[in-house]
Amino acid sequence: MTKSTNHIVIKIAETDNVAVIANSEGLPEGTIINDDIRLLQNIPMGHKVALLNIGLGEKIIRYGQVIGFANRPIKAGEWVEESKMLLPEPPDLNSIPMPDNKTLSELKPIEGYTFLGYRNSDGSVGTKNILGITTSVQCVAGLAQYIVKKIKQKLLPKYPNVDDVVALNHSYGCGIAINVPSAIIPIRTLQNITTNPNFGGEVLVIGLGCEKLPPESLLLQNGNSKTNSDKKFSNVFYMQDESFYGFSGIVEAGLKMTEIHLKELNKRKREICPAADLVVGMQCGGSDAFSGITSNPAAGYAADLIVKAGGSVMFSEVTEVRDAVHLLVPRTINPEVGKALLDEMKWYDNYLEQGQADRSANPTPGNKLGGLSNIVEKALGSIVKSGTSPIVDVLGPGEKIHRKGLIFAATPASDFICGTLQLAAGMNMHVFMTGRGTPYGLSMVPVIKVGSNSKLSKRWFDLIDLDAGKIATGEKSIEEMGWELFHLILDVASGKKEVACDKLGLHNDLVLFNPGPVT
Ligand code: CA
Repeated sequence: MTKSTNHIVIKIAETDNVAVIANSEGLPEGTIINDDIRLLQNIPMGHKVALLNIGLGEKIIRYGQVIGFANRPIKAGEWVEESKMLLPEPPDLNSIPMPDNKTLSELKPIEGYTFLGYRNSDGSVGTKNILGITTSVQCVAGLAQYIVKKIKQKLLPKYPNVDDVVALNHSYGCGIAINVPSAIIPIRTLQNITTNPNFGGEVLVIGLGCEKLPPESLLLQNGNSKTNSDKKFSNVFYMQDESFYGFSGIVEAGLKMTEIHLKELNKRKREICPAADLVVGMQCGGSDAFSGITSNPAAGYAADLIVKAGGSVMFSEVTEVRDAVHLLVPRTINPEVGKALLDEMKWYDNYLEQGQADRSANPTPGNKLGGLSNIVEKALGSIVKSGTSPIVDVLGPGEKIHRKGLIFAATPASDFICGTLQLAAGMNMHVFMTGRGTPYGLSMVPVIKVGSNSKLSKRWFDLIDLDAGKIATGEKSIEEMGWELFHLILDVASGKKEVACDKLGLHNDLVLFNPGPVT
């Protein structure tokens, strides 16, 4: 990092020939940076300046990697943006070498870090105590919301240990080709969500009665309902059940059923749990050029701490990993995991091809305003949040986590779909990095929002939980910010601190990933 009195110009790797302007107002034409480079034009915050003359066709290098090729000669001091560069080819998935275990970094374990969580009978630990009401079809979403409202008014005050009641509404269930191979993704997502540790095994299902997706099938993964038929009976009800008379009769039956589960949930108490019980889902939304310099490196540092403490961390977002996957395969623990990672990339390449989407579909216009020129630059900054641990496993979309350590959970980059799939995988904490700013939140799991730049974090002081922009201004090191995030995760997981989106009640909907046909 080069920092003079007023100019903050950030170069990451020794070989980089561009650097990012970090001053919140950008820097004007004529400014002298690095002692001898004169800016040839005004350059906004987050955007890149050429540190050397770059000839036509020559490499543009950031993070020590090629992010583009100059499509015209670029002079030192010039603003380097999308229109001046050609997108490099993506890594060839068939020629990436499989991992060599000797190169894997060994992380030294850390001990003694704990949080107060809700221990479940299956060994998982919740960070909230929530009654989840899921649905087998969108038709009953209104009823689920109505019942949630009534429970909050009438029942919740009687069960003080229950934090919340949440309708797990979604768009699936009707008009779907339920037996096609790709239907497995939305179906296992809904099934696995019911086993999220924050629901304590007490999820109930509202069905309509004529949908293709059988309500009982949503509890197939739920150990309790498999072994106890009485319990299963009290977990599922159909709106079209002919024993109910009128809407009021349906609601009354629903409330009666929920009370059984509220009683069970009310018995849950927080107890001391090791940090090894954390399952942290990490993702980005509304990234900018700082994401790869501040928030993602801090998240990566915290990810390493969680793994060293014996816990699990997931990172996701296939399109934001694809162009940097050659840097991840060598970090997988064996060729099987390496191959699984490449297979998820291939599956997604094929999926995008079928929809005729090319690589310009990501980044967003907002990402570009924030200084990210293309998907290669975005991906290189995105993978930093995975830290340095070995990748021990790869999950397909909607699959459940069953290993400790760093895991790649394949999901789209869409914030809500990624969050929904990480919820199904079993996360009990969510960490979300943003540079442009988004109010993203989920009601089922606490979402810590980390701002990549102080300009956003200050303006959105009541929406952002942690300002990683202090790394760019030199106020904090990556290590200090990583520890701060780690401690914040433990405090939020313990219920000692409330995240901004929970304080404000800003929560997004669940959004399923359904690559299959709708009929
Ligand atoms: Ca995202």
